Amino acid sequence: AFERVVSRIIKHFEQRKDCDGKLIHIKFHIGYTLVKGKRAKAEELVQESITAVKHAKRSKQSPAIYDPSMTSAAMETHLLENDLRLAIERKEFELFYQPIVDLKTSLVTKAEALIRWRKNGKLISPVEFIPYLEESELIIPVGRWIIQQALQDLKEWQQQGAQIKQVSVNISIKQLADDTLSQWVSSLNSKLAVSPENLVLEVTESLALESSENMELFFERFGKMGVEVALDDFGTGYSSLSYLHRYPFKKLKIDRSFISNINQGDKGFNLLQSIIALSKSLELQSIAEGIEDAEVARLLSLMGVHYGQGFYYSRPIPHREFIDYLLMSQANTTTNQTSD
Ligand code: C2E
Ligand code: MG
Ligand code: MG
Repeated sequence: AFERVVSRIIKHFEQRKDCDGKLIHIKFHIGYTLVKGKRAKAEELVQESITAVKHAKRSKQSPAIYDPSMTSAAMETHLLENDLRLAIERKEFELFYQPIVDLKTSLVTKAEALIRWRKNGKLISPVEFIPYLEESELIIPVGRWIIQQALQDLKEWQQQGAQIKQVSVNISIKQLADDTLSQWVSSLNSKLAVSPENLVLEVTESLALESSENMELFFERFGKMGVEVALDDFGTGYSSLSYLHRYPFKKLKIDRSFISNINQGDKGFNLLQSIIALSKSLELQSIAEGIEDAEVARLLSLMGVHYGQGFYYSRPIPHREFIDYLLMSQANTTTNQTSD
């Protein structure tokens, strides 16, 4: 019940406003902490709530309930370069995978790789440490490792009989400046005997905003190779439209803020419809992020969205569990289709 109140507050404050022809998106974040039976000090609760709000902002996941894995101010000082270097040496980074489902057939044909840091037995979220990897430029080697690991994992799933075709990897702004990344990926492809079409690179528009020169080179090099680029979190930035025209994206990932509470007839719904129409007219593959229930999946499919991703299908899970998920969902969809 408390959660319902929180989402009503968010809904009330979150707005899209037309301001001199420009659409302004007002985001509202809530973070809170729960006291479960035990006595707690007021200061501690306030501190935990502040940490939760910060997490909500950074992760764009609102409301956020405080969890010890969210870094507190004390933790942040620990997330220093040395720690991250050690993490690389100790192989503490791990890739989790989330299925991307064909909304028409329910087949899992793609997956997104999402990095985690397993530190002292705890899993740390990427929104907590990616900024530090970027600052320290360690994102260059780690970013390459992510691509290599994701392609290796994809190959393994395929060898085990999964009909999965693509794996997508998030690219950080600093990696745009990695001049030899495309060459490196190209030789990696030959080494692993995977084709460039197996890989999708996800970029956000804020990335494109900050460095258009690098972005152009990025598209030129990867485009020539046949690696697809997806525009991630579409609709959250300022200039989505111009970027879609300017760069040859193949896929459009509709941000979860448009998906999470679809109410037919309201403004958000109309916006979603126009995004889908836009995606069609640009002949892009559309992927809806943040699908949390069956009804939303059904509605999106009717609206013509091609793919879906979200907790409804699965949370991001470790590599080894993912193969089981793939094979199981494959078996289920075949039985469903034959019994139809
Ligand atoms: P993203 O690329 O937009 O990834 C989707 C995020 O939404 C993931 O969070 C995922 O767990 C979450 N999500 C998926 N389905 C649902 C849903 O139904 N409901 C809700 N509430 N959330 C859902 P995660 O894994 O914490 O990653 C957060 C962000 O961190 C990613 O956003 C991406 O920008 C960045 N990131 C993750 N892995 C990497 C990486 O390997 N490299 C780089 N550069 N960035 C990464
Ligand atoms: Mg992504
Ligand atoms: Mg996204």
